[in-house]
Amino acid sequence: MIHFLLLSVAMAADPTVHSVSDISQHFSFYMDGRFHRQYLKDTSRDVRNWGSLSQLDLSNVNLLLLTGGDERIPYDEGARRNIASFLDGGGTVLVMADGTGKSPPVAEVMAAYGAVLDDESAAKPLAGVGELEGQDIVLRRGGTLELDEQWTPLVLDRDGRVVLADRRVGPGTLILGSRGLFGQKPDASDPINDSWVGPLLVSRASRKAIDTTRPPRRTWAEDSKQAGPLKIEFHDGTEQFADDIVAVYEDVRPHLLAITGVEPSPGMIQRMLILPTGGGGFSSGVCIAIGAWWGGFPAKRYPMVELISHEAGHSWVLPYPEPLWNEPIATWLGIEVGRRMDMPQATRTLERQLAKARKLDPDFTKLNPMAKGAARDLIWGKSYYVFEELEKNHGPGAMAKYFQTKRRVLEPNRQAYTMDDCVAVWSLAVNEDLFPWFQSLAFDVDRSRTDLPAP
Ligand SMILES: [Zn+2]
Repeated sequence: MIHFLLLSVAMAADPTVHSVSDISQHFSFYMDGRFHRQYLKDTSRDVRNWGSLSQLDLSNVNLLLLTGGDERIPYDEGARRNIASFLDGGGTVLVMADGTGKSPPVAEVMAAYGAVLDDESAAKPLAGVGELEGQDIVLRRGGTLELDEQWTPLVLDRDGRVVLADRRVGPGTLILGSRGLFGQKPDASDPINDSWVGPLLVSRASRKAIDTTRPPRRTWAEDSKQAGPLKIEFHDGTEQFADDIVAVYEDVRPHLLAITGVEPSPGMIQRMLILPTGGGGFSSGVCIAIGAWWGGFPAKRYPMVELISHEAGHSWVLPYPEPLWNEPIATWLGIEVGRRMDMPQATRTLERQLAKARKLDPDFTKLNPMAKGAARDLIWGKSYYVFEELEKNHGPGAMAKYFQTKRRVLEPNRQAYTMDDCVAVWSLAVNEDLFPWFQSLAFDVDRSRTDLPAP
């Protein structure tokens, strides 16, 4: 009965909009689902485009969401053609971009539709006009637009300059506005203008009928090549980075093997996705995603060594990540790889973090890093300190002893891995009870809370 009710509710709320959030020109965690959650979650089925925009199938889509893009990946001829034919078919395109500062690649696309992204900042307060008259308009910051007579202004700044507007393009609709009118936080906690953004988009997108019985599917990066056992995934815009990133991975991997003394956990690191961003990466264990121009790559190399080691490192600790230092240990692996590759930035990165933690806990004996609300700098710095001390006191190769012991003593399908378990494994690895030492560093760990044996 309950199942039936849920089903009928879901069907009654069948969305009338199929949207695609494009993250192929510039990836952000915000556009990877948070925009949809803020403005369209009840009205639209959204999928993300990870592949070349030129090849995106928009036949059963009525709303395409674009951001400014990145200069390293200009909107190419094929992408422009696809946008134009989507408009020809009655689709709606929202472009969120500003011309202030460096002009984004989408500005050139917009020029063909009679719009110029000015480099002049909008002056607050802003006001809705036409159908947005009387609405509250929030702008974080952003630029103004210069538009031909085809456009209808929707938001003006204090001086009457346009900040958001739309126009018909054949049967389609183009909406152009400042990026600052929309949220940006990766946790979706800033849904500014949500009283009108969603309804505006739905009213335009509904001009094109879609088949709601055929939900759209995510489009993945369509190009790939094999590098040994690793499948490298990319699209036309990120292809230029693929070989260099693979080269870094191949440099890094033997060092990770040496530091940890083991291979990645079985089944892990099968795929590596090149992301169109300079903003870092992520890992699911099986797939690691790497920001193509992170830290100024390929001109600068150390940040990429650290990032790849970090994301790959997650695949070494799984399926039992250490709770306190899951992130610090990944970056420490990157630092250690960098030191082994004689990169001076690695030592500087380590020392910077240790110094920040020493400001909070000068000899590392006072503050419990596992306490609720413990400062990030304390957690990271104290983790690094522990790894360095363990190597000093129990090395060489203390970390490898730990990884090897962890693989050996943890039974498959274990339910949890706590810091008590972690210290027990370290104790077995170095053949010495380390609970007193960790306690002397103010860790809240206790042998009685682990089922693992003493050395
Ligand atoms: Zn991480």
